[in-house]
Amino acid sequence: MATATPEPNTDQSDLSLLKERILLVGLTGGIGSGKTAVSDLLGKYGAGIIDTDLIAHQITAPGGIAIPLIQAQFGSEFIDPSGALDRSKMRALVFGNPEQRLALEKITHPLIRQETVRQANHLALNRAPYLVFVVPLLIESGNWRSLIDYLVVVDCPVETQIERVMHRSNLPRSQVENILKAQASREERLSQADAVIENQGSLTDLENEARDLHQKILQIQKDRASSS
Ligand code: ATP
Repeated sequence: MATATPEPNTDQSDLSLLKERILLVGLTGGIGSGKTAVSDLLGKYGAGIIDTDLIAHQITAPGGIAIPLIQAQFGSEFIDPSGALDRSKMRALVFGNPEQRLALEKITHPLIRQETVRQANHLALNRAPYLVFVVPLLIESGNWRSLIDYLVVVDCPVETQIERVMHRSNLPRSQVENILKAQASREERLSQADAVIENQGSLTDLENEARDLHQKILQIQKDRASSS
C-alpha cells in the first residue's frame, strides 16, 4: 500500500546534520515512472540508496517492527496469516477515513523516519559518495524539498506509466488512473526538478542516462567540497 512518506525531522539527530557532510539527492517520479530502475542503477554505480517505500514495506512485513503496534491498535484481523500487514484490509479501512489513516501514520511514520536516518548514517559512514532518498511523494510533502540538495525527477508520458503499472502489478486501468489522480501532476514535478531522467526509451537508454547523472552528481559533490 503506498503511504505518504513522513516528513523528515530537522532536529539535531536527523538528516540535517548529514547535509553538512554529504550531498543529499532526492529521487521522485509518478507511479511506474522508473524510480526503482534508476535507483538500482545509481546504487550499482556506488551511490548510497535509501528507498523509503521499501522501508515502509519492511516494517510491515512478517516480523516487521510496526506489526505488534498495528495489531495492538487495529486488532489481529489486520495481520495476515504470514504475519504481515493485511494491506487490502487496511487500505479499505483508511480509505476516506482520515482518523484511521492518522492512527496508522502515527505508528508507521516515526518508524520509517527512524530507519531512514539510520540507513543514511550507515551509508555515509561507509563512504557512499552521495545519498539518494527515493521518495514517491516527495513533491507532495513539504519538508523533503527543503532538506535535500538536489532533486532528480524520473519522467515519462502518463500513458507509459499506466501501461507499465497495469503490466507489472496486474491492475485494471481505472485503478492505476485513480492512483495517478492522487499524485502531483507531471508538470508540478518537473517544475521543481534540478535534473530530469527521461524514461520513455529502452532500459539501455536509461542506463546511459543514469550513468551521466551519476557523473554529474559526483561533480557537484566535488565542486561543493572544494568550495567549502
Ligand atoms: P512505483 O512508483 O510503482 O514504485 P517506480 O517508479 O519505482 O514504480 P519501476 O518499478 O522502476 O517504477 O518501473 C515500473 C515498471 O516498468 C517495472 O516493471 C520496470 O521494470 C518497468 N520499466 C521501467 N523503466 C522501463 C524502461 N525504460 N523500459 C521498459 N520497462 C521499464
